[in-house]
Amino acid sequence: MTTRFAVGDITIQRIIEQEQPLFDPLTFLPGLTQERLEENRGWLEQARALDKATGQLVLCVQSYVVRTPHHTILVDSCVGNHKDRPGRPFWHQKSDDTYMRNLAAAGLSVEDIDYVLCTHLHVDHVGWNTRLENGRWVPTFSKAKYVMADRELAYWTQKEKDDPSGVPWITDSVLPIVDAKRAQLVKSDFVLNESIQLIPTPGHTIDHYSVLVGRHGRDALITGDMIHSPIQGRYPELGMRADYDSRQAGQTRRKVFDRFCDTSTVMCVVHFPSPSTGHVRRWGDGYKFVP
Ligand SMILES: [Zn+2]
Repeated sequence: MTTRFAVGDITIQRIIEQEQPLFDPLTFLPGLTQERLEENRGWLEQARALDKATGQLVLCVQSYVVRTPHHTILVDSCVGNHKDRPGRPFWHQKSDDTYMRNLAAAGLSVEDIDYVLCTHLHVDHVGWNTRLENGRWVPTFSKAKYVMADRELAYWTQKEKDDPSGVPWITDSVLPIVDAKRAQLVKSDFVLNESIQLIPTPGHTIDHYSVLVGRHGRDALITGDMIHSPIQGRYPELGMRADYDSRQAGQTRRKVFDRFCDTSTVMCVVHFPSPSTGHVRRWGDGYKFVP
């Protein structure tokens, strides 16, 4: 399934790889209590952010494609195929054609992508950076530059050096891009052109960025993993278990939501269930996501 909308002369389209119940809410969001979950179960189920049958959080794993008059830009690249992820059965040695089929349905081939923006270097955001060719990991998007925040890459490169078995996605999906000289290292507030600007949104990872697309009044923010579940809108301080610095991630959410709430800016969230895009409105001391 894809949806497509325009902000000014730019179109934004989702490329979905997976959308399903994936994680237990209480372990995924360690600060969440059973009581608070029950208090919010009704609206979360209604938004399909919580699966009624399994009680698990429903996450979408997707890329956003941004087409400007000059460039075609892919934001994040999901999980990928043929990758060893023994700790994650639903991502381990995947071989389905969903992602490539959805890319083709959007009228795109891998050669059409000019830039791959990596909001951060987690396993479910870099997978399709590379594909397996004759036993080697090669850049999937053969003509693209892959834009990574410099401190983010330095952090994960060091982790990989210390213990490659702990971060296999860096070995198979990030370092081959660097070796192929396709990585463009930038500061996390980099301005790519007049309609694409990176916004530093640290906390979930050390140098995470979001992507502001369009011009003032006709724009969209592709959040990356600044937020995972709409319940973190209602309670911005609610951290996620893989956060680098949960306190900072909470501050980032407040800052970003405060800036964009009750404006026309379309929020494009990676992991919210379909339609994944909408507006942020104030809700008590927190924020509501309105698809
Ligand atoms: Zn993610």
